[in-house]
Amino acid sequence: MNDWQDEMRRRITRAEELPPAFTLSAAERAFFDSPRPGTLKFAVTRYYCGLARPEDPRDPIRRQFLPRVEELEVRPYELADPLGEIPYGPAPRLIHRYRDRVLLLVTDRCGTYCRFCFRRRFASQRERAIGEEELEQAAAYVRSRPEVEEVILSGGDPLTLEDRRLEAILHAFRVARRGLVLRIHTRMPVVLPQRVTPELARTLAGLRPLWLVTQFNHPRELTAESGAALDLLAHAGLPLLNQSVLLKGVNDEAGTLSALFRGLQRAGVKPYYLFHPDLARGTAHFRPSLRRGIELVRRLGQELSGVARPVYALDLPGGGGKVALHEGQIGRVEDGWHLLEDERRRTFRYPVEEEAEDDPLPAGALPGAPPASS
Ligand SMILES: *Cc1c(COP(=O)(O)O)cnc(C)c1O
Ligand code: SF4
Repeated sequence: MNDWQDEMRRRITRAEELPPAFTLSAAERAFFDSPRPGTLKFAVTRYYCGLARPEDPRDPIRRQFLPRVEELEVRPYELADPLGEIPYGPAPRLIHRYRDRVLLLVTDRCGTYCRFCFRRRFASQRERAIGEEELEQAAAYVRSRPEVEEVILSGGDPLTLEDRRLEAILHAFRVARRGLVLRIHTRMPVVLPQRVTPELARTLAGLRPLWLVTQFNHPRELTAESGAALDLLAHAGLPLLNQSVLLKGVNDEAGTLSALFRGLQRAGVKPYYLFHPDLARGTAHFRPSLRRGIELVRRLGQELSGVARPVYALDLPGGGGKVALHEGQIGRVEDGWHLLEDERRRTFRYPVEEEAEDDPLPAGALPGAPPASS
């Protein structure tokens, strides 16, 4: 019996199972008291729950796993499929949007369900992994498309699969084309670092070239346990990247982001992307304004080495794909919408969501940084 599988079974899935010190706020209580068919399930590992300060309702770890009633409020421009992924599926669970790489949703199960998840129409819904036939179809598609150079396993969280199943999936693509680069997107090193065992590291090492992309969002997620997991992976020769999501009330402050990125660099993980949140249903309370995001990143750019600095990017709503965000882009505003261009100069709209008055960018949050200009 593997310890990590035991921990998956022991996850907290009902409000009553939270440690007694967690007093639910009215907004949290109201979520659990509301009917909510089809919404992202609630589940958190005991390890990740233990990183939160239970008495603080504004705790940045707590906000990532404990749902609030705002999740049930859908704004008119929020989308069930915010990235427009549905039309890009040449095989079940397979998304081919960019010419040279495909993304496969190997499972909809995760260690902990992130309340800001943009794939919430999929994640947690059935807690079912890819079947044999679906895998064969995906591998056959990759074999038939020589332009595909990279296969990304995503989900859900691929590391919720047991070693042998994960190895079989990766192996199916390794034999489909030998030179293929494999990549795994996972949050397990953050929410259940015990998942990263020496056996897993050995298995993945045998399937190189293989890159691993983690999702740390806050410096307090960088613990002794997650550090040990990252060390195991690094010693196995796997290149490590991280993508973070810029989340209001979690990490939308220059000092927090710089501590996160420096911490990752120290742990041997290159900060790859910082994503502005997608327009997923019921996630407005997590979205900072684009203006604030750009201001934060501008200040970080003056402070951080290139190794520690991620690309600030947005997946354009409705299938425009990823674009790097910068100052010059947010100038065009029309009727409450930012007009953003993709690489092919097509225009996409993203709503102007202003920050609440009581939540300004704290001046001097980053040592040595000039105060925010308005
Ligand atoms: C983000 C994403 C990728 C990977 O993009 P990179 O920029 O290479 O990280 C691939 N396919 C889809 C559908 C994606 O959304
Ligand atoms: S681990 Fe990824 S897919 Fe799962 S809930 Fe979090 S963001 Fe969504």
